[in-house]
Amino acid sequence: MLKIYNTLTQQKEVFKSIHPNHINMYVCGPTVYGDIHLGNARPIIFFDVLKRYLTHIGYTVNYVSNITDVDDKIIDKAKELKMSELELTQIYTDHYFDMSKKVGSQLPNLMPKATEYVSDMIHYIDELIQNGDAYAKDSGVYFRVRNVSDYGILSKQNIDELNEGVRITLDQDKEDPRDFSVWKNTTDGLSFDSPWGKGRPGWHTECAVMNHIIFKEEIDIHGGGSDLKFPHHENEMAQTVAHSNHHLARYWMHVGRLDVNQEKMSKSLGNMTFVKDLVKSVDPLAFRLLMVSHHYRQPINYSDDLMQQFVKEYDKIERSLKKVFLTMKLNGVSRGKPLDDILIQFNKLMEDDFNTPNVMTIIQDLIKQLNKEKDELIKTNIYETLSVILHILGVMPEFHISDDALNTYRKWEQARLDKDYQKADELRKMLLDEGLI
Ligand SMILES: [Zn+2]
Repeated sequence: MLKIYNTLTQQKEVFKSIHPNHINMYVCGPTVYGDIHLGNARPIIFFDVLKRYLTHIGYTVNYVSNITDVDDKIIDKAKELKMSELELTQIYTDHYFDMSKKVGSQLPNLMPKATEYVSDMIHYIDELIQNGDAYAKDSGVYFRVRNVSDYGILSKQNIDELNEGVRITLDQDKEDPRDFSVWKNTTDGLSFDSPWGKGRPGWHTECAVMNHIIFKEEIDIHGGGSDLKFPHHENEMAQTVAHSNHHLARYWMHVGRLDVNQEKMSKSLGNMTFVKDLVKSVDPLAFRLLMVSHHYRQPINYSDDLMQQFVKEYDKIERSLKKVFLTMKLNGVSRGKPLDDILIQFNKLMEDDFNTPNVMTIIQDLIKQLNKEKDELIKTNIYETLSVILHILGVMPEFHISDDALNTYRKWEQARLDKDYQKADELRKMLLDEGLI
């Protein structure tokens, strides 16, 4: 029985999909104006693992993640780089795709761009105004927070306490300081015609509208980084409740943050590490292994030392598997039979809100067994079991062993049997170069 921690109720709940065997999932995607750093990679990896696991247990998952391609930060960066916003967002959208694939994640089923939904957003905002849930002023359109009786339910904030600790623009156009912008009137940068003047939609409205248009109903899972709970997710949810009279999602899942040497990763501290730089010296799957070795809700305290530990860990897994893979190839065995009892243990852990840290213990135990085992059949079965688990976590190494390399290996074995040590030595060097022994 799958249990998921739901931020909305702050407890692990038995998961029940709205439609049988089908899951609709939306994860807030990137604002495309800069390189992907290690913290950004965490939800990219976790929600991919989530989709793989849900698919493994029999669901069809429709995973949607948006691209925010209109934003103040995009306008500023485009000015700084003297290029159009369109050019800038195209560069960083491609970069996002590249880095997602680099860290072993498949792209979501759909990645809608906010700019492609602007007419829907205008229509939606118009409906909010008609219903009295939003109001137009000279500076733009604002959402009337007080109309939503349980506002604050997701982020557990008391509406009357929101004055403090929250960045509230003292905007004279707002009826209430907690109201948020759903449309901003501006002609600075990319802007669109609307009944309220030239401008662009608010970020919280973009996600609410894309959900509304794409799914047309309450979805199963809405996810993102834990920093998005408030105000972004709270405001997405408030608009959906007001506009469509249903909740946005049944389960809200939030991924913990990634700190560097106990500090929050930030530009001002100069401790930003980008995925594109890390993968120059580190196998991206070793980085992914580090990520999945931590529980998705817990913060990760990243450091170079920690990364090096996982480089070694991953290398160990890769080398052990490669030896078995080679033997399987030599013996013409294509598959083994996974060990059912281990897969049952694995499922139990994953069903318990995705306890991947304990799954790591299973993996390490299997690697130890594999290295000790002499029986080729048992080794093949352990390999198969690991292959199932590592594929779901997205950290299964890919092995390519050419027929030439296999022949070299066979010749090496024969040379040793024939006690032709000189030849065996030459062949051994070749195999070492190929990383086969
Ligand atoms: Zn969003």
